[in-house]
Amino acid sequence: MPDKKFDIIVIGGGAAGLVAAVAAGAFGAKTALIEKEKLGGECSWTGCIPSKTLLAAAETAHKIQQSPWLECSFSKESKNLLESSVMEHVRSTVVSAAKAKGDVILFLHADSLLTAGMFEQIELCLKQNEYIGGAFKMKLSGEQIFYRILEAGGDLYCRLTKTYFGDRGIFIRTSAFRQMGGFKELPIMTDVEFSRRMVSIGKTAFLPGPIISSSRKFDDEGPLHTLYKIFWALVAYRLGYPLEIIREKYYGR
Ligand SMILES: Cc1cc2nc3c(=O)[nH]c(=O)nc-3n(C[C@H](O)[C@H](O)[C@H](O)COP(=O)(O)OP(=O)(O)OC[C@H]3O[C@@H](n4cnc5c(N)ncnc54)[C@H](O)[C@@H]3O)c2cc1C
Repeated sequence: MPDKKFDIIVIGGGAAGLVAAVAAGAFGAKTALIEKEKLGGECSWTGCIPSKTLLAAAETAHKIQQSPWLECSFSKESKNLLESSVMEHVRSTVVSAAKAKGDVILFLHADSLLTAGMFEQIELCLKQNEYIGGAFKMKLSGEQIFYRILEAGGDLYCRLTKTYFGDRGIFIRTSAFRQMGGFKELPIMTDVEFSRRMVSIGKTAFLPGPIISSSRKFDDEGPLHTLYKIFWALVAYRLGYPLEIIREKYYGR
């Protein structure tokens, strides 16, 4: 009888084989691992990791394309600059919403992230028939104290005025969205105008969320300057300034 060289021989160095071999070794077994091609198997070479990398790359490209702050597009025609990223954003939102087949539509900015439990909050809210939609409290990604003050002030403003900005994850019953005729193609203030109409046709909720939104715009342009621009645009909108002028002053073009 030949000498026993190994306690365990694992055939195949994929995800399962690697874990088995490592575990066997950890228990003190003399272990051999035999792989006919490349260590790592499907997960490493064609499955989990490549697919997640492709998804992450596509998501990043999508975020860049969708971002209202970066005028970048990855269309086949390789257009790098869009005539108006704002209008593109609006159009893509409208197109997506028009295709939506679910009972509820959630509008999520490319720079915003959902946190655990937000779908459940929507579900609980819309179980009450009188509610047609709403939005969420927001946390900004920046760490400075300024952002905490801004969050509190913003939440208060949204709660009191029932004005829901796009970065607060506006959600609405699909039926109500269709009834409203969707978003209007405006040069600016699409979300504000939309939320005002939403409030006029039914009850809305301001849910705890929180949704996490990027503070990049504030970081890039300076917090106070950005805050001033937002205030100015909101006041101008309320006073009925032409939207083209507001947009020009807000975006500088
Ligand atoms: C696109 C895609 C995405 C995926 N995403 C995920 C994910 O996100 N999360 C997740 O959990 N799973 C995911 N999976 C599934 C995951 O890849 C597999 O469940 C996992 O790789 C299976 O591992 P395994 O070790 O059992 O088999 P395999 O990875 O197939 O490994 C088997 C290994 O055995 C070798 N072998 C075969 N015969 C012999 C032999 N006679 N002698 C020596 N070596 C041999 C092969 O060369 C191979 O390396 C995904 C799969 C795909 C296709």
